[in-house]
Amino acid sequence: MGKPKVSSDWLAGCAGCHMSLLDMDERIATVLELADLRSTPITDLKEPDATGVDVGILEGAISNTYNEEVAQKMRQRCKILVALGDCAVFGGVPAMRNFFTIEESLRRAYVETESTDESGKIPDDPELAVPTKVRALQDVVPVDVFVPGCPPDADTIFYVLAELAQGRIPEVKGDKLHWH
Ligand code: SF4
Repeated sequence: MGKPKVSSDWLAGCAGCHMSLLDMDERIATVLELADLRSTPITDLKEPDATGVDVGILEGAISNTYNEEVAQKMRQRCKILVALGDCAVFGGVPAMRNFFTIEESLRRAYVETESTDESGKIPDDPELAVPTKVRALQDVVPVDVFVPGCPPDADTIFYVLAELAQGRIPEVKGDKLHWH
């Protein structure tokens, strides 16, 4: 049997969970020995293989129709889906937007910010994703493994990846719930 294929992507988040993944330093060489790293935001391949991958990892919440498409494609193409970080697990920081209407949020971001001049307007290109209520990943697709933390500790991410790469479902509990 070859190495398990692993893909990752980010949705509505800050990239901090992927930065924490890189924080595992030289242990990333161990992960590369155990797993075949496919599409990620930091590799050239940008979509999980059409023939499928063993593990899919998603950082970030679902905040628009594009996030939904990315999550659904990853779910369709992976055997085990991991929600990485608080945003993916329960909505996290992006979910604070749910206290406001989408119109209010867009006006604040594109029109009312102190640094925006009078030409500011809400983008309306039809090709843009449509904002939605912010949701956790599991509200859109079934999730198999939850890794909370903002971001999760690099030690925990290493543990999760090493377990999955060896065909085991990681148990994220106890001191593995500690994060900085
Ligand atoms: S969980 Fe924290 S570190 Fe990860 S994407 Fe969300 S805000 Fe960033």
